[in-house]
Amino acid sequence: MTRNSRFPGFYRLSLEERRRLTAEALGLDVREMTRALSGGGIDCATADKTIENVVGTYALPFAFGLNIKVNGVDYVAPMVIEEPSVVAAASNAARIVRDGGGFHAEADLPIMISQVQLDDVADPASAARAIVEHKAELIALANRAVPSLVARGGGAVDLETRDLGDGIFVVHILVDCRDAMGANLVNTVAEEVAPRIASLTRGRMGLRILSNLSDQRCVRVRASIPVNALSLDAHSGEEVRDGIVRASRFAERDVYRATTHNKGVMNGVDAVVVATGNDWRAVEAGAHAYAARSGRYSPLCTWRVGDDGSLLGYLEMPLALGIVGGPSRVHQGARVALQACGVKSAQELAMVVACVGMASNLAALRALATDGIQRGHMLLHARTVAIAVGAVGDLVERVAEEIHLRGNVTMDGARLALARLTGNPAVDELDSARVVVTQ
Ligand code: NAD
Repeated sequence: MTRNSRFPGFYRLSLEERRRLTAEALGLDVREMTRALSGGGIDCATADKTIENVVGTYALPFAFGLNIKVNGVDYVAPMVIEEPSVVAAASNAARIVRDGGGFHAEADLPIMISQVQLDDVADPASAARAIVEHKAELIALANRAVPSLVARGGGAVDLETRDLGDGIFVVHILVDCRDAMGANLVNTVAEEVAPRIASLTRGRMGLRILSNLSDQRCVRVRASIPVNALSLDAHSGEEVRDGIVRASRFAERDVYRATTHNKGVMNGVDAVVVATGNDWRAVEAGAHAYAARSGRYSPLCTWRVGDDGSLLGYLEMPLALGIVGGPSRVHQGARVALQACGVKSAQELAMVVACVGMASNLAALRALATDGIQRGHMLLHARTVAIAVGAVGDLVERVAEEIHLRGNVTMDGARLALARLTGNPAVDELDSARVVVTQ
């Protein structure tokens, strides 16, 4: 089945129509999808077995990011996020990237780092030699701890040693985790091999745990966007392109800007990571440590002008994601998300996630480089405000439009608009009271 991620006018459909359309296009059972997504994906009894001290569940909006083409293949990106405009902006930017042929992505092998700390190592050079000499034995020992991973083609593949000084010595066991995120797998490996490593290095055993700086497991994304696809309202494609490149240079030189720039990348990344039941704290920790790897915190995604005048984007970041294990086993929402996304491996998921990150960054920079981010943001924010004051059904859109047009996207403004639209006689009084108060 050729997958499609282009659904023009999707946002105008009802929620039921969106489910029906996507279920049909993605080969999903619409009833199953509805069941899984109506209740937030997890019931209280399951939640109670997942973590401790449970008193309920907590749902967030689940949406589909559209128009995403990666290496010639279409993907619908499941996105779970509370912030308005992220899904629309990423979908819109992904449509622009399609005009240049879509995203081109590559993912490293799914290799995680398992750390074994040794203290009081008197002779780090001979400790390192001992590890190299016993590499085959240590790898075999590690692999005995994770037979089911080895049976799937994964397992320990290499070792590294690092002398941190002051008697602190670290051994990294590199483990191919296949389609799992791998934290539990590599922790098991670390605990299994640590005693032997301690005896080989003549050190005192310390921590045995994965590193969340999964820099062996990076994704790289490139996109080339034709300049005329970038024009926005009165702004020419060249103007928008140059504005995006200037914004990139700003982030490359300034940590204050780089942080916000990367927050824009993580808007898209985290939404898909959460939807697919992955550990977003691990992804966040890894992303920001990677951004600071040169000693200066830098943008994960950068933009330049290509020789042909197109806008060139480049994103590189570590992504430790799984399509098996973790919560994907018990969370119905995560299961539907993975089915809808249609990825067959953790590496494929990582590429989709990184592309959504690039799309989010592009959307934010395109808005910032032109009229600023607030214009588009406020209309979407207005909907949240309308809901917060009790608007339901059609009234959400009508209240949102009114407060947006009036330039008064506030709870007070929304209350007034709602009262006016529902024919509440107190409106004029309220309006005049407000005028008096604000004068
Ligand atoms: P897991 O413990 O569920 O292990 C994955 C399981 O899936 C293994 O038993 C493996 O054999 C099996 N499996 C089935 N098909 C597979 C395939 N194709 N490829 C690979 N394995 C396959 O999960 P995990 O991925 O080891 O750990 C992830 C969990 O650990 C997450 O929930 C994460 O939040 C948590 N965690 C994270 C940290 C951290 O990031 N610092 C620390 C501890 C735990």
